[in-house]
Amino acid sequence: AYLDRIAGSDERLNAFLHVDAEGALATARDVDARRAAGEQLATLAGVPIAVKDLIVTTGQPTTAGSKMLEGWVPPYDATVVTRLREAGLPILGKTNLDEFAMGSSNEHSAYGPARNPWDTTRIPGGSSGGSAAAVAAFEAPLALGTDTGGSIRQPAAMTGIVGVKPTYGGVSRHGVIAMASSLDQVGPMARTVLDAALVHEVVAGHDPLDSTSIERPVPAVVEAARRGDVSGLRIGVVREFGGEGFQPGVRAAFDRAVELLAKAGAEVVEVSCPHFSHGIAAYYLVMPSEVSSNLARFDAMRYGLRVMPHEGASAEQVMAASRDAGFGDEVKRRIVLGTYALSSGYYDAYYGSAQKVRTLIARDFEAAFEQVDVLVSPTAPTTAWKLGEKSDDPLSMYLEDVATIPANLAGVPGLSLPVGLAEDSGLPVGVQFLAPAMADDRLYNAA
Ligand code: GLN
Repeated sequence: AYLDRIAGSDERLNAFLHVDAEGALATARDVDARRAAGEQLATLAGVPIAVKDLIVTTGQPTTAGSKMLEGWVPPYDATVVTRLREAGLPILGKTNLDEFAMGSSNEHSAYGPARNPWDTTRIPGGSSGGSAAAVAAFEAPLALGTDTGGSIRQPAAMTGIVGVKPTYGGVSRHGVIAMASSLDQVGPMARTVLDAALVHEVVAGHDPLDSTSIERPVPAVVEAARRGDVSGLRIGVVREFGGEGFQPGVRAAFDRAVELLAKAGAEVVEVSCPHFSHGIAAYYLVMPSEVSSNLARFDAMRYGLRVMPHEGASAEQVMAASRDAGFGDEVKRRIVLGTYALSSGYYDAYYGSAQKVRTLIARDFEAAFEQVDVLVSPTAPTTAWKLGEKSDDPLSMYLEDVATIPANLAGVPGLSLPVGLAEDSGLPVGVQFLAPAMADDRLYNAA
């Protein structure tokens, strides 16, 4: 049914970069046979999932949304993919994204943008826009995304689905093409909180192949999603998010959601996180610095695109020509920014200062979580904008991440929950819950 749905609607949505009908059906049949033989299978066995094309898969190409990796078929599976396979989830295909996950609209994909199923003249958010569009359009019941500065939560908000960025280190990054290694996390995207929790449980947990993986039991997210009891829960509304720059329709939907939480018995207070407003500035130094380092591996020698500028070209000339042809403008912009921020003489002024701000933001979270159990804010300042509307203005696009970035800088988990449509645009609004590290279960309970 999902494959039929993809065949019927993905030409319009461009959510998938690759569909593996045969592979998905083979897994589904295998699960059926094992179930018929009486085997006890995982809860999600047989339920199909779409995987962001930043996560490597054997048997299917992984492009990272870039010309640099066009046609590359990885020689191994990411740990999260291995876990999906072990649990018997058929993998429908690989979903569209901004090139190397850099963007908030999916317009930086080298393969054309995915579109928002609510209005195909609009962006689905990004960078996990393909995963979000696929789930929102019933092309897949579940998907995996990645979130470095909001790339799961923001597209979830723009398309009216649930998206979760787990605690940093909670889900393995092994086999996830690195954007900014100290910020990247894989997480679930789904139509309900419980569905997201079920995927979370499958992919989370310690992995010796990821040196930042946390060696502790996975928080009881499924149980929390089933419980859904906020009575007595202390919920902090982040004072800094919701005023200037936030669309009135987003604000109003957020206020209604907070009222519902209070009615359900939560104790709602306002909390100030004074350094959150510097999050974007710090992120746009830390992230490009890591990007410039991580993307150095695309050197046209080991794998990926190789362009020969002329006969007898030197290795350096081949690298330059290949990187020029293989990377899009946004990726180049970030490599330049990052290389600059890390250069000697500038390192302390830029990278060093950004790291200090990062610590201050982590302290804001610590102070807030002494007062409340979870924090809440709108996920994004606006609803989905028109394709092309912000293309000429990278800064206005960067501002869309104001509310999601602090969680990545501090490593804490966040969940975006759809809370209805904005009255001024008729488009979905998301509310974001934030919790202390390794308390991901609180997000699922509150949502
Ligand atoms: N939109 C943010 C950026 O462009 C976040 C990207 C992400 O989370 N992968 O960097």
